[in-house]
Amino acid sequence: MRNPVGGHVPVAGGLATTGLAYARELGAEAVQVFVANPRGWATPVGSPAQDELFRAACEAESLSAWVHAPYLINFGSHTEATVERSVESLRHSLRRGREIGARGVVVHTGSATGGRPREEALTQVRERMLPLLDELTHADDPFLLLESTAGQGFSLCSRAEDFGPYFDALDRHPKLGICLDTCHIFAAGHDLAAPRGMAGTLDELVATVGEGRLKLIHANDSKDVVGAHKDRHANIGAGHIGEEPFRELMRHPETDGVPLVIETPGGKEGHTADVERLKKLRG
Ligand SMILES: [Zn+2]
Repeated sequence: MRNPVGGHVPVAGGLATTGLAYARELGAEAVQVFVANPRGWATPVGSPAQDELFRAACEAESLSAWVHAPYLINFGSHTEATVERSVESLRHSLRRGREIGARGVVVHTGSATGGRPREEALTQVRERMLPLLDELTHADDPFLLLESTAGQGFSLCSRAEDFGPYFDALDRHPKLGICLDTCHIFAAGHDLAAPRGMAGTLDELVATVGEGRLKLIHANDSKDVVGAHKDRHANIGAGHIGEEPFRELMRHPETDGVPLVIETPGGKEGHTADVERLKKLRG
């Protein structure tokens, strides 16, 4: 399928019992989950029975699975305790990702805190994140996917060109990829709603990191205008990006085979409508 469409699903109650059931109700063709509290540092072991059910069902139903790592992770932090926890948390998400058959683990690119220069923060990204990439030696290990942010504060990566230095810091590792969040990149100043705005942004991304690095798309509309540096997701077509750029997205050569996952408001009803709308735009 050119672009499987799915959503981020809740998993309280079990990956399979709750998560898969929710995905089926959405008509999802791809599914993203948390494997830990996204606002905490805990590294839960998970349930082998739920893992197996989830993994087997995803395979049987050709659902691609993706993990989103916790939000607190910041490899650019000037606080050593935060960096140490970030390493443990991301290592945990990567291991859990493999256990549940996920194809990729999404992590936010973080920010340079404490007034430290960006270069210093990127050096730390290299020292602490690169070893985690080197640990991905199993054939079924997930990709590590960098997700840029809306460009708040001292963000290390928000515009397409910012992926360049970040990729360089990580030696353009073969297990490294990108998760493009349409709301974030719009908030960072890429006008996806302008004529050829989406295609042009994707072209820039390819020019920066090369072909084949874009593995996943977080398909979210934006409640705020372009360049607002605000991370407020809207339902597809109900925000300042609008429907058309998503159609354009699914026509670009770089997105061939790349799944779209929604992280939009509105509960199950809103999610079902967004999945349906994206499938319609896919044609
Ligand atoms: Zn996202």
